[in-house]
Parts: sequence; structure tokens; C-alpha cells
Amino acid sequence: MTTRPESISQQEWQAAAAAIAKAGQTVISCHLNPDGDALGSALALQRGLENAGRTAVVSFSEPFVVPPQYRFLAGLDRLIPPARVPANPDLLVCFDAGSLDRLGSLVPTFEGAATTVVIDHHASNTRFGDVNLIDPAAPASAVLCRELLRRLDLPLDKEIATCLYTGLVTDTGRFQYQATSPETHLLAAELLAAGVEQYEVSKALFETNDIGYLRLAADVLGRIAQVPEASLVWTSVTLADLARHGVDMDQTEGLIDLVRTDAASDVAAVVKEQPDGAHKVSLRSKGGTNVGELATGFGGGGHAFAAGFTSPLGVEGTVWSIVEALTGQEAGATAARPLVG
Ligand code: 5GP
Ligand code: MN
Repeated sequence: MTTRPESISQQEWQAAAAAIAKAGQTVISCHLNPDGDALGSALALQRGLENAGRTAVVSFSEPFVVPPQYRFLAGLDRLIPPARVPANPDLLVCFDAGSLDRLGSLVPTFEGAATTVVIDHHASNTRFGDVNLIDPAAPASAVLCRELLRRLDLPLDKEIATCLYTGLVTDTGRFQYQATSPETHLLAAELLAAGVEQYEVSKALFETNDIGYLRLAADVLGRIAQVPEASLVWTSVTLADLARHGVDMDQTEGLIDLVRTDAASDVAAVVKEQPDGAHKVSLRSKGGTNVGELATGFGGGGHAFAAGFTSPLGVEGTVWSIVEALTGQEAGATAARPLVG
């Protein structure tokens, strides 16, 4: 079995392993508003090092809140708030962040670290580390983390395997997205053999919602709209929606998975109002459009079929800008009728 990604050279793997093996004070991090892959990969490496008698701290940017669906993960007690992270560590390793700004309030720590290792699978990755392990073909950063652990001779245990499995099962959309391969399933098998209780993980991640979330989903889906000329389906989530149903924004990650199932549309978007008035956009494509490139054009990033960006515009302006990018036409040409959503 090989999970070794070929787009990372032997020299890069060796440089990363050497940097981690010899480092003193080590900080492990991931992107802000972490998802299962980011959190799982960071926690897995921290636990692997700790099992070997090494100390390494793990943290992520403010807002320092773990979304509820990931709170079953063991090892969360080892997360320290970003304010307590040493300012000038010997080494900083970060997972699943496509660009430096994705480290949020930990950007100064990254800049103050003597050596930095960036481990990621976003095609849009800007290679901002001293050492960069970037494989856009990898279905999850957790795959790269598993290979790194192997090269560091850090064995799996149940907790590490559960963290890695969480990254794998979330970023592959439960083993259904395009990047899922025979190797992905072989890694899943290895992780289950190491003790992952996969039903418990699935239940926590995918089968547990507050009733408020279900009511929010009803409202959000109630105003779903299609823009046929752009093969786009979209909806929005407002701060008022969240307040009405007592839901936090970090619980809305799964809404895009409902919206994207519209049979008539290739591209799906969920536009989420932010407290500062900006709008964060989640984009998905069934294969006809590279939404990673589209998001990068708006200052965001991601993968070919899953990406995002933050827009300074309101909901309508944001959707029109997406329509323009998808159709190559000015919004004026399509603005004959108002958007509904
Ligand atoms: P989601 O829609 O689940 O928030 O994000 C989908 C994918 O796009 C993830 O891989 C995420 O890392 C990436 N992404 C989302 N928003 C941004 C953004 O603002 N900047 C960058 N660089 N990537 C983003
Ligand atoms: Mn990822």
C-alpha cells in the first residue's frame, strides 16, 4: 500500500521530517475556523510527538472555538488559545492552510518562527513555508499527516487514528468526492484497524443536529434560487436567521451539501453574512467549473470543486459578481430580472 503523494519530492519529505525531528519548541496549527481535516491533522501530529516524549503545543486562530461536531475528538484539552502560543518557536507546522492569511491571529507567530513547515492539499496553496509539503491530488491533509508520522517513526494509536479518520471522512465527503481513490480506502482501513469507532465518529459528525439547525435549514432552503444562465444555485444565511434559531455560524458548514444537490445546477453557493457586514461564500462544483480558480479571483481559494472567499459586497452584489465570473458577461446583461434568494 502506498499513500505517498508523488507531487511531493523525497527531498521535501526529508526536509520536513528533519526539521520536526530536531526542533525544540514546536507549535502545530491549522487554518482559522478549522474543519475536521485541519483540526484532525494538527491534533494527530501533536499526539504523535507527545507519545514519543516530545512537547509540542497545538492551537488555532481566534475565534478560538471548536465547532460542536468536532467536540468528540480526544485531545481537544491539549489545544491552547492563540494568546498563549510562544511568539518565537523553533518550529511552526501548519496544516490545511492555503495561504498565510488563513492562519488569522497566528500569522505573527508564523512569521516569528525560526523554521516553518506548511502541509496542505489546496491547489491554490501559495507555498509560504520554508518547507512545503503540498499535494493537490491528496483528498485530505490528513493523508499527508499520516505519511509524515510514518517518516517520523511515530506509530498510530486509537486517538491519532480517530483524528486522521475525521479529516479523511469529512474532506472526502464520506468517501464520495473525486479525489477519493483506492489508497484513500486503504488508509481508512488502516485507521479502523488502529481502533477508530467509525459509527461513533459518523454519528458525531453527520448524524447529530440541533432542532434549531433543522429549522434554520428549512428557512435557508425555502429561499433557494437558481440562475440558469450561470448554472448556479444559491441561497444565503443571515445573522438574523442564526439569532432566530439560536444557531452559531460554525454549525452551518453542512448547508452547502444540501444546496449542491440541485440537479439543474453545476455550481452551488451559500452566501453567509458576517458580523462585520462582509459575506463569506462557500462554493461547490459538480465538475463543469473550477470554483477554486473562481474563488482565487475574488481573493479566496480552495480546491477545483470546493472553494470559498469573503466578499465586501452585500448578498445581491456578491451573487451578481459570481454570475458575472461564471458567464463572462457583465451583470447588467443578466440583471433584467431581480435575483430571488
Ligand atoms: P468551505 O466552503 O467549506 O468553507 O470551504 C471550502 C474550501 O475552500 C476549503 O478547502 C477551504 O479551505 C477553502 N476556502 C474557503 N474559504 C476560503 C477563503 O476565504 N480563502 C481561502 N484561501 N480558501 C478558502
Ligand atoms: Mn483539507
